[in-house]
Amino acid sequence: MNPTGELQLKPGKERSLERRHPWVYDTAVARVNSRPASGDLVAVVASSGRWLAWAAYSPSSTLRARCWSFVESDRIDAAWFATRVTESVARRASLAADSNALRLVFGEADRLPGFIADRYADQLVVQLQSAGADASRADLLDALMAATDCRKVYERSDSATRNREGLPPASGAVRGVEPVTPIEIHEHGLRYGVDVRRGHKTGFYIDQRDNRAIARRVTAQLVSELGRAPRVLNGFSYTGGFSLAAAAGGAASVISIDSSAEAQAQAREHWALNGFDVVPARWQVADVFDALRELRAAGESLDLIVLDPPKFAASRHQVDRAARAYKDANLNALRLLAPGGRLMTFSCSGAVDVALFQKIVAAAVFDSKIDCQMLARLSAGADHPLAMTHPEGEYLKGLLIARI
Ligand code: SAH
Repeated sequence: MNPTGELQLKPGKERSLERRHPWVYDTAVARVNSRPASGDLVAVVASSGRWLAWAAYSPSSTLRARCWSFVESDRIDAAWFATRVTESVARRASLAADSNALRLVFGEADRLPGFIADRYADQLVVQLQSAGADASRADLLDALMAATDCRKVYERSDSATRNREGLPPASGAVRGVEPVTPIEIHEHGLRYGVDVRRGHKTGFYIDQRDNRAIARRVTAQLVSELGRAPRVLNGFSYTGGFSLAAAAGGAASVISIDSSAEAQAQAREHWALNGFDVVPARWQVADVFDALRELRAAGESLDLIVLDPPKFAASRHQVDRAARAYKDANLNALRLLAPGGRLMTFSCSGAVDVALFQKIVAAAVFDSKIDCQMLARLSAGADHPLAMTHPEGEYLKGLLIARI
């Protein structure tokens, strides 16, 4: 790919690029030289004219360009994409023992801004979330197929980010035949069915893999600490990931609450698929905020509660409202927690950072008037790394809390 233009920055705006932050905001650009099209390769230069980065141009986004490379001698071509993709895939090799559902490429964190690739058994699912990734789709897909032994790629470019890039949503098989539904995957020895066409994200919350394993371990620890099998509640349960993990850890019973009847039906199928029909289970299609209050009114008490809600804050303007929702859910969960019990609580809102989330949960603990310890901070798995130069990439955070 040859550069078709140049973005010249305003004085001082080169600093973030010098630190290898991959985004160029519209407000940083002084001038666009030549007439690059959306997704084209451009050179980003300082106000002095000094070369800073190769980037993909996105004329309708506030992220006016996303940088591919900070090395001037790099040629951004098919071979370059192949190297980046191959390296990303290779970095995940050791995770294959845990699961055959893995994120192989995670955008900015893997130095491929806007490009997401997940693997479910032999099916690849991609999201092309930026003008640059979309324009380079052929090179990226070729590279991905070459780096894996997969012959099928399905596109799920249906997120809001594409809209901001001036790109229409795009879904469908882009390489090979249509995906089967469901695709059976395994994670830490448990089996799940994934619908890559209609499931959330690219079909499954791959990012919670390690935390589901922790939930399983915590359940097993509670068995020995309490001298009996623990009662578990999984709030915002989707297709039952944490419910199955708790059952595998030795739960006495599991209550799963989700507002989606379809997700609950899939969770029940997963339960049966793994032979957990002997474990008492309740599948409640309900609003978690209401259900927690009702459980308390009914005098319920739980030993492990998982709260993994959807993104309450889509932007920083929604942080206050999100904070109130997180606090309410956590307070009402804590009120249900038996002495010695554990709360695993999450936020996947990028706009709510770790420090704020901990403050919100601390406020809920304070209001609950019970004593708690924080045993661990939780995050997304190693296939969802964070580029040290791009803190905006951190979104999933959680706390493991013990009632003492
Ligand atoms: N923990 C899950 C992922 C949870 S995704 C896993 O490991 O796979 C969040 C879920 O919350 C979705 O399934 C969505 O249907 C559900 N949800 C959103 N708002 C809700 C509400 N107010 N009450 C109950 N469920 C809700």
